[in-house]
Amino acid sequence: MAPAQNPVLPFDDALKSCGLFPLTAEGVSILQVNLGRRCNQSCEHCHVDAGPGRREMMSDGVMEKVLSLLARENFSALDLTGGAPELHPRFRELVSRAVSMGRSVFDRCNLTVLFEPGMEDLPAFFVRHRVAVYASLPYYRREETDAVRGRGTFDKSVRALELLNAHGYGMEGTGLELHLVHNPAGAFFPAPQAALEAQFKVELEKKHRVFFNRLFTITNMPIARFDSFLQKSGNREAYLTRLAGAFNPAAAKGVMCRNMISVSWDGHLYDCDFNQMAGLKVNHGAPDRLDDWSRKLLERREIMTAIHCYGCTAGSGSSCGGETAP
Ligand code: SF4
Ligand code: SF4
Repeated sequence: MAPAQNPVLPFDDALKSCGLFPLTAEGVSILQVNLGRRCNQSCEHCHVDAGPGRREMMSDGVMEKVLSLLARENFSALDLTGGAPELHPRFRELVSRAVSMGRSVFDRCNLTVLFEPGMEDLPAFFVRHRVAVYASLPYYRREETDAVRGRGTFDKSVRALELLNAHGYGMEGTGLELHLVHNPAGAFFPAPQAALEAQFKVELEKKHRVFFNRLFTITNMPIARFDSFLQKSGNREAYLTRLAGAFNPAAAKGVMCRNMISVSWDGHLYDCDFNQMAGLKVNHGAPDRLDDWSRKLLERREIMTAIHCYGCTAGSGSSCGGETAP
């Protein structure tokens, strides 16, 4: 059978319509490192297809290359993701060494990992290294969160937030950053970020006495497990059409790939974690392996785009740091 034709306007045509083609980087300020696909959860919307059974983890050899890059190149932040990055056996070493080199570290934490065996010291470790915690929490209610992440996840996540608050995270005057990351429970766009942040703050404080600094919204990307969900539920075409229909040039201007580089567990370079999962390595003449790193070529590289990029440019935009349109 011939593959189904995609009726959605190619993403590059949308960029051309607003003079942004080709989309190019404007620097490499953030180094995002994906430590592997292992996770203690298997969420339905996971763009990484992560789970407890995944074995792909960064090897010692690749880890050394990351550390050597951090030592010789200046980045405003090291952004650690996975899977659950904390499950990598050298997670703490990577964080400590990066901090001793003067780098800020962000940890993309699913909260429940704090209760995995051997993770008891993590909150205190985060405090010692002033790690900024970006914690994913699908919603402020049990029902919606558990529907995406599995039964009992919400209660465990709230306990993790209590623990982090008890260590000073998200509390006024400590400077210990605890941000929440929300993505919708289905094939629809997130609500406006500022309004949702206010709602999360009121509800989580009122019902659970837990606190956080900022909330960032992320649009579900039509790749990996969420893409399979769209296909199975017959929603893929409608979702892509909606994303494409909401294309916003201001959001496209601010997409995160213009300012970062993403390293995979096996040492390849990508424009972002989503391209990593879609198997789209850096290209257009820029090196796609850590071994061949060249800031000169990477910081002005042309970005590899595909239909899933509409997920970053719809409405107010979406990125690991939330909305991108001013
Ligand atoms: S969404 Fe995050 S917490 Fe859930 S399976 Fe994927 S990596 Fe793990
Ligand atoms: S999916 Fe990646 S490459 Fe595409 S716009 Fe978003 S951040 Fe950039």
